[in-house]
Amino acid sequence: LNPKPSRLSVDMERTFIAVKPDGVQRGLIGEIIKRFETRGFKLVASKFMKASEDFMKTHYLDLKDMPFYAGLCKYMSSGPVFAMVWEGQNIVKLVRMMLGETNPADSKPGSIRGDLCINIGRNIIHGSDTLENAKREVGLWFKAEEFVEWTPCAQPFLYE
Ligand code: UDP
Ligand code: MG
Repeated sequence: LNPKPSRLSVDMERTFIAVKPDGVQRGLIGEIIKRFETRGFKLVASKFMKASEDFMKTHYLDLKDMPFYAGLCKYMSSGPVFAMVWEGQNIVKLVRMMLGETNPADSKPGSIRGDLCINIGRNIIHGSDTLENAKREVGLWFKAEEFVEWTPCAQPFLYE
């Protein structure tokens, strides 16, 4: 479906990350991108867009029986999001660690949610939770031609 992650001596993974409408409105796109850039991950696709409510219902299909599902999908389609695909070794797990917990109140300082937000329904960022969901979400949000092929010059200094 999508171009394969870069070939290196390590196994590369890709994950889907989105700055949610609250993160966009609060001017946190740059701060959030900075965290993944400085960690050493490679940006491979991005777009600033408004998703429809139906699209968000598909994105969050796993949560369809939860009481917050309708409100969540409505909220996620209420304003622009900044959607991205990032690449790196073990990135799905590492990004989830960088996000903190779903509830910002349980997120440690130093994590994105622990540093930048307060409320579970306004937790500013989405990141895929498993490699399987990452593949599904990357394919849902991005077309093959939206990926950029490039080699960051820092790569030999990030990976052995
Ligand atoms: N959410 C909510 N109330 C809850 C649980 C979740 O509003 O009690 C929202 C929250 O914005 C969360 C999103 O639903 O980020 C998706 O929930 P999930 O359990 O997948 O959390 P995540 O993977 O984003 O940490
Ligand atoms: Mg989730």
